Amino acid sequence: MTEWIIVLLVILIVIGLVVYKYRKQIQTAWIMYQTFRKFKQQVKPRQKQVPKKDTSNDTQLVRCPKCNKWTPQDEAVKLKTNFYCSLSCLEESITFNK
Ligand SMILES: [Zn+2]
Repeated sequence: MTEWIIVLLVILIVIGLVVYKYRKQIQTAWIMYQTFRKFKQQVKPRQKQVPKKDTSNDTQLVRCPKCNKWTPQDEAVKLKTNFYCSLSCLEESITFNK
């Protein structure tokens, strides 16, 4: 019945040897992981500080059906399939349709 203990010990020794052999690589990988995590934390608030004009290249422009003004989709107010430049245009459009 002590066979499994020997097997377990052998496995533990093998793992220990592998960890010992690759300790520098493991340390480097760990440091890289920590650096990457810090980098990610530093990048997040920086993205918020970027003005919207810089990211307008990848934001789609939508035309307001009320005043025909072109507005970035993330700034526009959506109603069903229409995008309005502002809430006032949306409200005017609703009251006009009635
Ligand atoms: Zn409008």
